[in-house]
Amino acid sequence: MEVLTPRDVPLGGLRAMTVRRTLPQRQRSLIGAWCFLDHYGPDEVDRSGEGMVVPPHPHTGLQTVSWLFTGEIEHRDSAGHHATVRPGEVNLMTAGRGISHSEYSTPETTTLHGAQLWLALPDGDRQVDPTFEHHAPEPVTGEGWEARVFIGSLLGSTSPVKTYSPLLGAELTLEEGTTLKVPVDPSYELGVLVDQGSVRVDGKPLARNELGFVEPGSDSLELTASDTTRLLLVGGPPFGEQIVMWWNYIAREHEEVVAYRAEWEALLETGSSDRFSLPDGDPLEALHSPPLPNARMVKRGP
Ligand code: MN
Repeated sequence: MEVLTPRDVPLGGLRAMTVRRTLPQRQRSLIGAWCFLDHYGPDEVDRSGEGMVVPPHPHTGLQTVSWLFTGEIEHRDSAGHHATVRPGEVNLMTAGRGISHSEYSTPETTTLHGAQLWLALPDGDRQVDPTFEHHAPEPVTGEGWEARVFIGSLLGSTSPVKTYSPLLGAELTLEEGTTLKVPVDPSYELGVLVDQGSVRVDGKPLARNELGFVEPGSDSLELTASDTTRLLLVGGPPFGEQIVMWWNYIAREHEEVVAYRAEWEALLETGSSDRFSLPDGDPLEALHSPPLPNARMVKRGP
């Protein structure tokens, strides 16, 4: 197992909140199609507007997976969805060819704690129409553990939400001292993100907020909880494609990102774009794009 440590990154918006980012980083860009892992909180959020305040912004070529442990987030998108993200319920937004959305922690939220994950869409599917799905997985329980499978299949539970490559995403909680041998697909590379407690993964220690990366090849993963532990288990077969990631876009070439940026800015200038539109009834102004880098954007991946 390779241990990836998080770095603190401020989220966009006026009152930036800080997230712990474990993907992408220098050593690793992807685990399966998982290409972005942001983990945040528990943050105490007061009623003066702190918390998650991310005004409308665009995405392309990806799916966003929102998973909360505590708190609630209000989601609005340009495909017409207005939803509340709640603990233990997955919200999967498919950006496809282009979407915009906003995310605000609700006024009732006093503690915000969760993860925002991105999935890269394979080249053949990245122009699909934007959409949004919601699923509340039934927990699977055993002696000293509980699992909520929000993407793919694990421990007899299957999530119905649509992905475009084989993937796994699950929350596992383990009582102190519990050992769970999780059957996994040997073609999958795996990531273990520790939210609470600490765990041994196939005997190797992994601390809170760290991401453990496990190569494909084994048909099981042994988790032993050193304390009461909560973790996310993600995985998928190696993605096999190089991607360009910049701001909120995933593309294949530098020029595509330049065009997406221009189309988003044109929407904000003129009110129209063939690719993007804004969510209806959003209370805040949409975010402008950051300046383009001077250098050519680097492709990540194999
Ligand atoms: Mn977003």
